[in-house]
Amino acid sequence: MEARAIRLQGLRKVFGDTAAVTGVDLEIADGEFFSMLGPSGSGKTTVLRMIAGFESPTAGRIELAGQEVTGLAPFERDVHTVFQDYALFPHMTVEQNVAYGLKVRKVPRVERLARARKALADVRLEAFGTRRPSQLSGGQRQRVALARALVGRPRVLLLDEPLGALDLKLREQMQVELKAIQREVGITFVFVTHDQEEALTMSDRIAVFNRGRIEQVGTPAEIYERPSTPFVASFVGTSNLLSGESAQRIVGAPGTYSIRPEKIRVLGESAHAGDPQYSTATGTVVEVVYLGDVTRFLVDLDAGGRLTALQQNLETSSADVAAYRGTRVTLQWHRGHTFRVPE
Ligand code: ATP
Repeated sequence: MEARAIRLQGLRKVFGDTAAVTGVDLEIADGEFFSMLGPSGSGKTTVLRMIAGFESPTAGRIELAGQEVTGLAPFERDVHTVFQDYALFPHMTVEQNVAYGLKVRKVPRVERLARARKALADVRLEAFGTRRPSQLSGGQRQRVALARALVGRPRVLLLDEPLGALDLKLREQMQVELKAIQREVGITFVFVTHDQEEALTMSDRIAVFNRGRIEQVGTPAEIYERPSTPFVASFVGTSNLLSGESAQRIVGAPGTYSIRPEKIRVLGESAHAGDPQYSTATGTVVEVVYLGDVTRFLVDLDAGGRLTALQQNLETSSADVAAYRGTRVTLQWHRGHTFRVPE
């Protein structure tokens, strides 16, 4: 078995009368890029703060690299936390900011400088060592904060919405960069986010949080394609659920099912699925939205229920789109894309 970086057992945290975390069991492997994903208030930051040692659990146990650390102070744990506001010292240069933690630990000057430069190279900022934080862009500041964390060579890096302050374009760039840096340095990253796309893009595995507990742990593909609860299906991606009577009529069995919008084709009303591998459902287009690369159709099904379908705009242009509203269509998807959502 792979070495374990983090193990949480029965972790609980109560603030006054709020149960922020109600029983979390989790194992994170060495070198994983692991995300904790969930809506605001679901308890992910509290779990991260307990791993860091900033909060002590009401109950439960925390192990880092096989050693229990539940009662230890933050500085006694081999972890480092990167916060969203970066907390850089404005009067120091970038290099001094990065080397500061080593200075506090009385690492000799020559070694300090060498390690700071290496950390700056890791985040591709070797040319910026003599600047002050105010002379950097948001993305560069974020990378300085990361270099400052990497320079201490922690076993685990905890990141609390580190990209939250960046605009969308930069955020997407940094997602790719951060993942690449993590792969290069090989440190375990535990990343807190409420952004499902961010978690899907970057993570080796994801834990989906809801109301203080974990609903599902899995790879991005498992979370997206096989959501194990209705909450996960609705929080990650568009859930597109069929249940009750409509499930019975379309899927042919009772239960709740999820079909992702991009798996559904929108065809003319008279189209038939000759192939038993495919499910079909007729209905009426109630809404249609042109989104540039794709068009989104909202279809009321004759069998009851409503599905969203996303179509690549291979031939459709924005001018065609409005004409679809109110038209009769057949939706078709491969049966393999119908997932039963446990209730
Ligand atoms: P966000 O994405 O908004 O940061 P989160 O999933 O990280 O949310 P937490 O910050 O862990 O959620 O909060 C979980 C719950 O615990 C919330 O209801 C929050 O109000 C509560 N909580 C967190 N910290 C404290 C505290 N120090 N005192 C009281 N309640 C707290």
